[in-house]
Amino acid sequence: MLLLRDTEAGRELAEVIRDHTALVRKTHAGSTDQAHRGRKFTATLRAATRSALYEDTLRPELLALAERTAPERAIGDILARLPLLPKTALSDSGHQAFTRELSEFLHYYESSGTTGNPVAAPKALDDLVANTINIGELWARILSPADRALILINAPFAPAAYQFEKVLEYLQVMSLRPWVDNITGDYTRVLRLIRELKVNVFVGPPSRLLEMIQFAHRNGEPPPAFDTLLLMAEQTGPAFVRHLERLTGARAHVAAYGSSETGTTAVTCEHRGLHLQTQSYALEIADDTGARPVDGRPDRGELIVTTLDVLARPLLRYRTGDLVEIAGADCPCGVATPLLRTLGRSQDLITLEGSGIRQNDVESALWADGPRTPDAPLILNYMLVVRDRTILCLVTTTGPADRHWTEAVTARLAALFPGRELALRPVEKLPPLASLGQYLGWKLSRVLDLGDERNWDRLPAPIRGVVEETLAAYAPSTTDS
Ligand SMILES: [Zn+2]
Repeated sequence: MLLLRDTEAGRELAEVIRDHTALVRKTHAGSTDQAHRGRKFTATLRAATRSALYEDTLRPELLALAERTAPERAIGDILARLPLLPKTALSDSGHQAFTRELSEFLHYYESSGTTGNPVAAPKALDDLVANTINIGELWARILSPADRALILINAPFAPAAYQFEKVLEYLQVMSLRPWVDNITGDYTRVLRLIRELKVNVFVGPPSRLLEMIQFAHRNGEPPPAFDTLLLMAEQTGPAFVRHLERLTGARAHVAAYGSSETGTTAVTCEHRGLHLQTQSYALEIADDTGARPVDGRPDRGELIVTTLDVLARPLLRYRTGDLVEIAGADCPCGVATPLLRTLGRSQDLITLEGSGIRQNDVESALWADGPRTPDAPLILNYMLVVRDRTILCLVTTTGPADRHWTEAVTARLAALFPGRELALRPVEKLPPLASLGQYLGWKLSRVLDLGDERNWDRLPAPIRGVVEETLAAYAPSTTDS
């Protein structure tokens, strides 16, 4: 998997690969080795005592207790006694999480940092190997060496694109990893490569794929078609998944869930189950009533992550801020680890008096299944603009819309926002903001609240005009800004 000049290091690496592969296969087959997990947990605590991040919070007696506890009981007895690590504690002092010299890492990466400070997330040889095998063993159920994959992840500072390239190498799937300029958004060359190389797998964030499809439509190019979509890096609910399948003819998977900081905590199987990687993480769910371990029973709340295979920068009870659901059901694929469903970031909620509206609510209304006339346009992408009691939904479509179609879509959306005026306006192109879900999350990229005057500046000139006109028609007194 990696070429290393040093013979001894190469031999050690081969052993790590062999052992971790065996562990993953055993865990997926349903035999969880609690003693092995316990030993990794205690090693993680031991490593954490060398990190400045836990200097004031990790009491030495807890490590001593872990060392004395039978490995199969270590996680159950001790995990809940460790303090929770808030997101801000890590983003304020990411480098302090290191337990090794920087030169002992293999690659330096950071989280994207658009919603806070970038957090250092370098990869060391041992955690890279574990994470790659964790993903690869499940993707092997979906991909084969006959596939040709496009990795389209515009995030050079973050580890994702490199990580997924390693997974495809592990599976001996040919891949290409081009770059698209965020400013010009010119996909001409990527679209040509997809056609010429007969690329049949897309790996990347759904907003990026949508932007490429829109580019093809605007420029009269055939939209790209795929067999398999491996989507990641932003919340993709059922309506969004179906939408992308309809546009590309592919079968779509929310392929992996995790972050630069934690690594990949859940990976899809061929039945689209996101399986938790329990061989590499001790996971908990937290809500107002406290935290409890993920044990396979149905549950819902914020995911709390303790890494077991990231000794170079261990995370103990890290609060992800992500709302998740544990299904509590078996997956038809036979992999025995619990299934996760992501519900988005806790802040990704439109709060109107008395009700909260989430991404999937909006997308179910926009991309509703059901009979449609053959020449009715499809909504490609959208953005919500909120101003006082008016909600304006800007959409890009595959073709011109008639009044009947506009009224039907408007009625479906309006049902989500009782007591508000809702207007639907097709536009040629959405603000670039709408394709930045990967960096900003749903609410910051798709919902523009003009209650905050500064947000007007986020609208490029032609769209600003549409917004001003529409708002003026609905609420003349409020659009003179
Ligand atoms: Zn499964």
